[in-house]
This record gives sequence, structure tokens and C-alpha cells, in this order.
Amino acid sequence: MNMKYLNVDTEAIKEHIRTHIADFSRHQGNEELMDTVSRFSFCGFQDEFREARERGELEIRREDVLCFETDRPGEYIVNTTRIIDHDAVNAASLSDAEVTGRRQCRQLDRFLRRHVPGFQNAVLEFTGPRVGVRGSRQLSGKYTLTAEDILERRSFDSVIAHSAYPIDIHNPKGVGTDSRFLSEKGTYYSIPYETLYCEEIKNLLAAGRCISASFEAQAAIRTTPTAGALGHAAGVAAALAAKGDGDVSKVSRNELQKRLKEQGAYLVL
Ligand SMILES: Cc1cc2nc3c(=O)[nH]c(=O)nc-3n(C[C@H](O)[C@H](O)[C@H](O)COP(=O)(O)OP(=O)(O)OC[C@H]3O[C@@H](n4cnc5c(N)ncnc54)[C@H](O)[C@@H]3O)c2cc1C
Repeated sequence: MNMKYLNVDTEAIKEHIRTHIADFSRHQGNEELMDTVSRFSFCGFQDEFREARERGELEIRREDVLCFETDRPGEYIVNTTRIIDHDAVNAASLSDAEVTGRRQCRQLDRFLRRHVPGFQNAVLEFTGPRVGVRGSRQLSGKYTLTAEDILERRSFDSVIAHSAYPIDIHNPKGVGTDSRFLSEKGTYYSIPYETLYCEEIKNLLAAGRCISASFEAQAAIRTTPTAGALGHAAGVAAALAAKGDGDVSKVSRNELQKRLKEQGAYLVL
């Protein structure tokens, strides 16, 4: 359940991080970025977070605060709640997740104002209209993307999207986030068309976080830009299939790739 704030004092946060750099491992070694980026993101406050959890003020089973400034200076998205042990395809469970998310937001709002410099006079603009879901049902497709495909940057003739986002596993059991990055900077992996359809249903295409991918691979490809690229590919493929007999498996890969590139997709063939 994301939160959005206005009127956050970015300079106060930067100053705190500069003067307590030992506490901010993800900022160490690139402190100069704080002065050059147009939008500031930060991650940390582990000790304060842990202590608040121990005092019973926070029930969020994660380890730190994660915030991203938007295009508007001083406006931040707070991506810090964590709702686990719920099932997004079960209505009662999803409703309970909504309630839990709202409660965590209230706790977090108090925490941020007390412990994170820059939030004292911030205005809580809104919390997510619905709880966000990282994973639910997925297609069991003609091909299932794996962690190896991503980390070894396997190439596919039928590539329809690229991404460089790491495998980013938010521990489904509780505290902890496991990120596995591509070993080489400036590189990216490929996602083939066969992850968008299955053999059983001829006129069905999946897009976004629902495509055929292992748990680890889904933890990389579900990010918003990649989900958008996959949606683009699924839309163009659907249009091409509709011109034929509606069988999505028969869509010409070359034609699909050509159309995607004409429409501005980033595709290296
Ligand atoms: C807390 C959180 C933080 C995240 N942070 C980031 C981040 O920082 N960066 C990033 O890139 N990604 C992030 N992600 C991941 C990313 O937001 C999602 O994986 C991505 O939005 C998935 O896009 P999607 O279109 O596949 O699915 P969704 O965004 O879930 O869209 C599915 C849509 O289908 C609709 N729907 C469902 N059932 C039906 C139905 N029967 N009929 C009609 N409509 C229906 C839903 O209402 C929803 O609008 C985050 C996710 C979460 C939960």
C-alpha cells in the first residue's frame, strides 16, 4: 500500500544522510549523487525501524524505509508497507490485505514524522486506492522464463521486450529483500513472445506480471516499465492474430517485432 507525500524537506533528509552516512549502506560510496540527481531517492533508517517494531509501533515486516521523489520537487512516494501471507485471488484475503495496508500506513505516517527528518511538515497526499499486488495468478505458457535466462542474459529470436531490472525478491515470509543484479553494467536481458501465450487456449495472451515466468524471473520482469513493454507486445500480437484466424501462436515473430519497433519499442534484434 503505497503512500504519497507533498512538502517533504529534501535538504533535511540529505543533510541527515550526509552526517550519518555510516547508517546508510546503500548511499555509501556514491554520496555525490545526492547533489547531482534531479529526483532524490533514499533507503535506510534501519535502526529506527527495528526499534519502532520492537516497541510495537510498527507491524510492518520489513527492515527499512524506501522513498522515491517524483517529478515534483518535495513530493515523495513511500514504498515501505509490506503485506504478506495474503492471497490476491481470494476476495476475503484481499479485503483483509486492504485493511492491513491502511493500518500500516497510519503507523508509518506517525513513524515518518517522528523519525525521518524532512517529514515533520509533510502533507500526506494519498494512500493507494487499492492495495498493490506483486504476484497472483500467472500463465503457464509455451515458454517459462527463468532466473538463468535473466542472469545469463540469454537471447531469443522471438524477443519482444528487454529489461535490466534485477531479480528483486521481497521475502514472502517476512523481513528481508534479496536483490540479484546483472553482473555486467550496461547490459540487459530479453523476454521471448512464447511467455505470453499457452498451448491450451489459442486466443489468449498474458501481459505484465501475469506472463509465464518462474517465481525468481517474475520478481524481475514485473516492474512497471517492463510490464508496459509486455502489454505493448501483447496488444500488437492480438491485433496481428485478429487479422488471421485468431491463433496467437501463429503470429509472425518478424512482423510483431517490426511493428513494435515502428511504434518506438526498445528492441535489439
Ligand atoms: C508495493 C509495490 C511496490 C512496487 N514498486 C515498484 C517500483 O518501484 N517500480 C516498479 O517498476 N514496479 C514496482 N512494483 C511492481 C509493479 O507495480 C507491478 O508489478 C505492475 O504494476 C504490474 O503491472 P500489471 O499491469 O501486470 O498488473 P497490475 O498493475 O496489477 O494491473 C492489473 C489490472 O487489472 C485489473 N483487473 C484485475 N482483475 C480484473 C478483471 N476481472 N476485470 C478487469 N480488470 C481487472 C486490476 O484492477 C488492475 O488495474 C511494485 C509493486 C508493489 C505491489
